[in-house]
Formats: sequence, C-alpha cells, structure tokens
Amino acid sequence: MQQIQWMVDRVIDAHVHFRHREPVEHFNAILDLVNYAQANILTGWEPNSLDRKREQPARFYTFGMLPHDPTKLAAGDGAYRVGLLEDLVAKGYDGVKMMEGKPAWRQQFKTPAIDDDYFRPFWEKAVALDVPITMHMADPVDYWWESRPDSYCHLDPQEECFRQTEAVLTRHPNLRITFAHFLFMGPQLNRLGDLFARFPTMRVDMALADEYLYYCSDDPETTRAFFITWQDRILYGTDISDHNSLQLAHGKAEMIRLFLETDQTFTSLRDKASGNPPRPGSNGRTELHGLALPVEVLDKVLGRNFESFAGRMPAPLP
Ligand SMILES: [Zn+2]
Repeated sequence: MQQIQWMVDRVIDAHVHFRHREPVEHFNAILDLVNYAQANILTGWEPNSLDRKREQPARFYTFGMLPHDPTKLAAGDGAYRVGLLEDLVAKGYDGVKMMEGKPAWRQQFKTPAIDDDYFRPFWEKAVALDVPITMHMADPVDYWWESRPDSYCHLDPQEECFRQTEAVLTRHPNLRITFAHFLFMGPQLNRLGDLFARFPTMRVDMALADEYLYYCSDDPETTRAFFITWQDRILYGTDISDHNSLQLAHGKAEMIRLFLETDQTFTSLRDKASGNPPRPGSNGRTELHGLALPVEVLDKVLGRNFESFAGRMPAPLP
C-alpha cells in the first residue's frame, strides 16, 4: 500500500478513535500511511484517554466525554455537568465528544433528549467557554427500516433526533458544534443547507457512516455546488480507529479522497478492504462519484475548517 498523496499540504482528520485494542505502534503506522498532519481523537470516558496526546502533543487533538451520574441523571439535575466540563478543559482536552444523540446509546444509558432541561446548564456553559463539541446525532435512515434485524423502529424516529437538534441550536445559536457523519442528512442536503444558513457556528464532519457518500453521488453536480456553498462548514473525517487493519484505514481515507479530489466513478473501498463485494447504499446504488472540488475548497475541507473549529494547534496539556 502506498502512502496517500493529497492535493493539499495539511490534512487533519476531525474524527478518529483510539479504542485501546491494538498497540500504539499500529495506530501510528495507520496515521503515517494516510499521511495526516494531525488528527482529532474522539475518546470515551476512560481515564487514560489523553495518553496519545501526551505522547505526541503536536499531532493529536483529543475530545473527551462527560460521564453521567446515575442518581443526578434520574433526578433530572444536570447542574453538575458544568463542573465536569470545566475539569475537562482544565485537563487539556480540546473539546467534548457527545454520544447523547444516538438513539441506541440513549436507550442504553437512559439519557433524556438533548433539549431536556438536564442538559441546559451544560449547553449554556459550553457557549460561555466557546468549547468545541462533536456530537453523534441520529443514525442512518435505513436503521429504522423494519426489515432490519436490529431495526430502530422501537426507538425514537429519526425526525425526533432532528427536532432535538433544531431545538438546541435555536436556544443556543452560537454553539461551536460539529455533527458527526454529515448529521445523517446526506439524503436531504437542502435541509442541511437550511441549518447551515440559520446556524453559522454549526458544522458537520465526513466520518463514515458512508450513507452520505451514496446519496451525494446521486447528483454530483448538485452535491459539488453544495460543498462549494458550504465550504467553511464541512470537516474531513474518517472514523479510522486503531482497531482497523492498515488496509481498512487506508480504504476509508482513500475513498473520501477520491470523492473530494477526483471526478472518478468508483465503488466502496471500505468493502474492498474488508474483502466484501461492493454493497449498495440505502439509495440502492453501489457507484460513488467524485466531486473534483477546487483546491482552495479542498484546503478548507481537508484541514483548515478543523483549525477554525478547534484551534490552530492542540490545547497544551497542564
Ligand atoms: Zn466515530
């Protein structure tokens, strides 16, 4: 496998994970292969989640999660989350990772809707500190299909996720927030554009869930215009993790590179790296089409937009 060659100098991945499953050397080898300047590790609430950043403080940004106190959660009292957020920032995290918008996660941890009063003190403090947040909100539209064995049909509908999103943004319009996985709005770009227009500090990242790649390939001309219009609001990301093989991690990054930089027609490099034939997206098609974006747009999407979101350099560790 060849190291990926990009059309721009600085590529920052806004969305990678270190899941403590493989040796650090493997993770570093992945990041060398995909040829990033920097990467943002979205961590869980494990105590050693700053280790990678401690080893390479110029290479890694790190976002951390705030744990939930079961008693206060049950009582609906979220005031304690202000202190947790202040602690997180003081420890040298660059931002907050939130899973509280993912329906299956919410069911497991019994957290309320993100526009519930439980979260209000947290949102207010996040705006006051202007701290960056990356949030997993909703899930791909086909997760709700009743034909799926693991169907979400018994959970909140996807529309409810979007209602909550809009409610929080309306109440806190200056939130510095990135919604992961294109906010799962690949199938409805006009609606995502409407949110971008109304909420100037919200962004999305391109981490796979590859759903959006399929829908964005339905009409490449319209998608290309969308990316050019919203060139400041879309962040390159992959969901690469230490748990990926070199082939799989390379396939994820290379697939998004082909989509952004070239006008090629191709099929899923993720499936190929996993040894599977190309499976159709939920739009029913297997072909993906590149956008061949102008280099000044690539420069923003592939790196500068993350810097605008989370800072020119990772925050110093105390
Ligand atoms: Zn992820």
